[in-house]
Parts: sequence; C-alpha cells; structure tokens
Amino acid sequence: MPILVLADIHSNLEALQAVAADAGRFGPFDAVWCLGDVVSYGPDPDACIDWLREREAVCVAGNHDLAVTGREPLDRFNPLAAVACRWTQRNLTAGARDWLVGLPASPVPVGDVTLVHGSLRDPVWEYALRADVAAASLLVAATPWVLVGHSHLPLAFERPGRGAGVVARAWPEGEPLGLRGDRMLLNPGSVGQPRDGDARAAYAVFDPEAGAITRHRVEYDLPATQAKMRAAGLPRPLADRLAVGR
Ligand code: ZN
Repeated sequence: MPILVLADIHSNLEALQAVAADAGRFGPFDAVWCLGDVVSYGPDPDACIDWLREREAVCVAGNHDLAVTGREPLDRFNPLAAVACRWTQRNLTAGARDWLVGLPASPVPVGDVTLVHGSLRDPVWEYALRADVAAASLLVAATPWVLVGHSHLPLAFERPGRGAGVVARAWPEGEPLGLRGDRMLLNPGSVGQPRDGDARAAYAVFDPEAGAITRHRVEYDLPATQAKMRAAGLPRPLADRLAVGR
C-alpha cells in the first residue's frame, strides 16, 4: 500500500486537511511519514500534531520543532521565525509538547527509505539544495531512498551508481519518479509554507511496491489560515508570504 509523505506542515491545518482530502484518491495509506517542522509559523500547532498522532505518523524533528521545545537555541533563527517559535511555545498543550519532545533529531530508516529533516550530514540544519550537498548525504546513505524537508522546495537528486556524480533530476508534478541509479534524495515540498512560488500545499505519495514516488499540489483555504494568523498576532509578513508561496 502507498505511503503519504509530508514535510514542513508548519501548523497550517487548512493545508494539511486539503492534502489529506486530495490524497484520499491514492489511499488507503499504509503509513504517514513526516519529515519535520510540524509546528511554528502557522496558527494551529495542536491540531496538526493531533492529526499526526491519530495516524501514528513516523515523524522526525525539524529545527522549528526542536526550537519550540528548547532543544535548539532561538538565536539561530531569523527574528520573525523566532517570534513564531515563541508564540508556538505559548500556544501548545502539554500533550502536544510531549509529542514534539519525543521526535528524533536524527535520521530514521524505514525499509528502503531514510527520513530526515535537513540532510544526512546535518539532520537538523543543512539545506540539501545542490547536487554536491545531496552527494554528501548519499555517500553515507544506508538506503536507496532519502527523503528530506527543510528547504520547502520540491527537489530530486540521483546518483547513477556508486562513485558516480550526483545530478539533479526533473520531478514533474503528478509523474511517478522511479529509482534509476543506486541512490536518490528527494524533497516533496512543504505542506504549510511552500517557497517555490506556488502557493498550493505540497505532498508526495511513495509506492514501495512500484518503487516510485509522485509529488502533488493542492489548493487550500489560504485566506482562512492568514486570517487566523493575523487574529493570533503572528507576524504579518508570515501570513502574507503564504499567498505568494515564498
Ligand atoms: Zn520548515
């Protein structure tokens, strides 16, 4: 059965619900995998955590999840992100906080796939945006597939074979991507705060039997999320940027 892959939900419940509804056409799912940054930026940290807990999602910690629970210092964040982290700290139930505290900050292997927020070289902070950075991760990868979040950009890199150079690979929306080489590193894009200029929520569906992963986008009630953020007193630029996907 397929697996639903989510990254960088960032407390955006409307985006998460739209993803869940849209992904229904590919389910039922064997599992939900989450690549970190469940919280911060958005207005609904508890509800997003509840959604993942109910589905027993396999989830790694992102830098925001770690900062909200005091496991990473806030001074590593830009001022607006730090404000959002502090707001999240004040607006989190004890149960949700405990769940965040329990998230692993190191890579999690699941069968043929390793889940990590940043990269295998630096699981929390490194952005795997370039082929040379992806190559450093794939060099130490113990599984054919590595799934990352953190940059909020849909990306695919492949290593054609052991010792071969890592290259970026096109990964058009809706087209299954199979493993051609011996290693691949992919980012499905962000559910709750896309940054590739496309405001729609991003997610992916991994099909272990077919050995392929497909990424998707779906529109969500973005004005509702923005209105909640403004009402909650979250920094206005964080709400504004959702509309332009940056
Ligand atoms: Zn993030």
